[in-house]
Amino acid sequence: MKIACDIDNVVADFGKTIDKYAKYYNPEFDMRDVKDYDFRGVFPDGVFRKIVQNFQHSGEYRNMSTISGAVEANHRLYEKGHQVYFLTTRNYYPSIWMDTLFWLDKKGFKFEEMFHNLNLGKLPLIQTLGLEVLVDDDPKEIEEVSDKNIPCVIFDQPWNQEVNENLYVKRLSQWEWIVHYLDDLESIKNGKRQA
Ligand SMILES: [Mg+2]
Repeated sequence: MKIACDIDNVVADFGKTIDKYAKYYNPEFDMRDVKDYDFRGVFPDGVFRKIVQNFQHSGEYRNMSTISGAVEANHRLYEKGHQVYFLTTRNYYPSIWMDTLFWLDKKGFKFEEMFHNLNLGKLPLIQTLGLEVLVDDDPKEIEEVSDKNIPCVIFDQPWNQEVNENLYVKRLSQWEWIVHYLDDLESIKNGKRQA
């Protein structure tokens, strides 16, 4: 299957980086308390934008941790014949694009292509490329894509708890389970249900 996969907070632990910066302004801050996907709200006005802009000089994008199990799962997906396309809303700075490719390579991710700056939404690209499933933590992306009857996995995070499961939306918190789920989807698509 052709899989569309988000990067931040799905394979890269962007939350850990935000947590570090936010603690600078508020030592009591805890990323697990964030209930809104719009992370700008955890900083004083205008600060989030500056922080993200500063990433291009900071090397943060090259040094992020991976989400637990993400690399192993990515390799399993390729062993099973799936293809992964990374789709990210990270912005257009060439250095960020380079840092993201550097990071994916450094961590050993396998993928077909990486697209960034998709601030207008991932649905058009998913449809153009014929991608068959989306793995993302952004409630808006999940809603837009699942509304077109394209299956989605919402990667369980504190800030997307309002998203309900339905026929096209599955909530999962572990990459190991996502691999199983994607295999099941593939079987259903091929008309054979797994025992
Ligand atoms: Mg994300």
